[in-house]
Amino acid sequence: MIKAIILGHNVYGSYMKQFIDRGYNRIVDEYGGEEIEPVAYWDYFGSTASDDADLPVLDHEMVRAFFEDGSAEILIVPQECYVGLNDYLTAFILIGIDLGNVYIAKSLDRSISSKDEIMDMFTPYYSCGTLPYMEFHVADHCNLNCANCEHYSGLVKEPVFPDFEKFTNDLHQLRKYIDTIGLIRILGGEPLLNPQVEDYIKLVSEVYPESVIRVVTNALLLRSMPDSFFETLNSCREGSGVHISLYPVMKDHIDPVISLLKEKGTTYAISPLMETFRKQQSLIPADDEELAQKYTHCYQKGCVNLYDGKLASCFLPFTTKYFNEYFGKNLPEDGAVDLYEDGLVIEKIMHRLSTPFERCRYCREAVEQPWHVIHEPSILEDWV
Ligand code: SF4
Ligand code: SF4
Repeated sequence: MIKAIILGHNVYGSYMKQFIDRGYNRIVDEYGGEEIEPVAYWDYFGSTASDDADLPVLDHEMVRAFFEDGSAEILIVPQECYVGLNDYLTAFILIGIDLGNVYIAKSLDRSISSKDEIMDMFTPYYSCGTLPYMEFHVADHCNLNCANCEHYSGLVKEPVFPDFEKFTNDLHQLRKYIDTIGLIRILGGEPLLNPQVEDYIKLVSEVYPESVIRVVTNALLLRSMPDSFFETLNSCREGSGVHISLYPVMKDHIDPVISLLKEKGTTYAISPLMETFRKQQSLIPADDEELAQKYTHCYQKGCVNLYDGKLASCFLPFTTKYFNEYFGKNLPEDGAVDLYEDGLVIEKIMHRLSTPFERCRYCREAVEQPWHVIHEPSILEDWV
């Protein structure tokens, strides 16, 4: 018996336990496999199920204890829960769960008609072609130029757009390895500066029709967008729409934007007003101990970014070049996987996305700074 914790004390966790008890364990013998014993639910999202759970319900610390004393050997993550997670790596690593002991369960929201399908239900994390989240730039530059923008958009002095044809090929190349993405965010820089932004939305919706798509914008240009922009977003999977990052310059101008979005019937979310910004960059490399500490707690390592045919666990492998060029520095620009690399396999991609890299040595504990736009010309204090 393999002792398993199921992530989620919710309807998906409950269905998963029933599937294991009534489906998987009844036939696994025939395939020479071992039965799974669900030992607990991990109350990761806060309970949505009734209190009379059929298994113990654990918080984060209790999950850690179960793994440490051998009461649990593996973690089973229902796909419906996994695609909604954006900081799963942080949570798993903090608790000390080896990602080699994590299994992503395929969705139960479909008919399963054969024993082979039942046996094929659990995929090791490193082999699963599923990402909870991915983002990509459609413009590297911005019309706001905030200091401490982690994408260094204020240092991009000329318009920089990806080549649409190349991006189309890159997205199809990604599709060979990753077949499901929960949430795809189109951002920058300021994505609404790209006159082809609708083409990108349509493309993503064609290649990943089951993904929720969000355009992340500072909203300065939203009221000048044509009707077709909103119609295109409205035609994507339910939940798709606009995410507004609300900066002080828009504070007194946001009401008409909200009215417009309501009028267009476009789903939207607005961040809290960002009067401070996180500064986390250093020019002094962290030692191995600090690196491990920083990476373990970094919630951005799940911000998987696709850029110029490469995939990385955050945007910094791609945007650090702007900082280096502007200030004549030499921070590492490593950490990405080339999707066209010979012999590439999904396991290599997933390992890369969950491993610290040299650029991480220059990220530190974030300090909140008052929000402001960069100096002109920019100075190091805008960033470091
Ligand atoms: S609005 Fe966003 S992308 Fe633009 S400079 Fe500010 S933080 Fe960067
Ligand atoms: S470079 Fe590393 S530590 Fe810095 S934000 Fe990206 S993943 Fe996190």
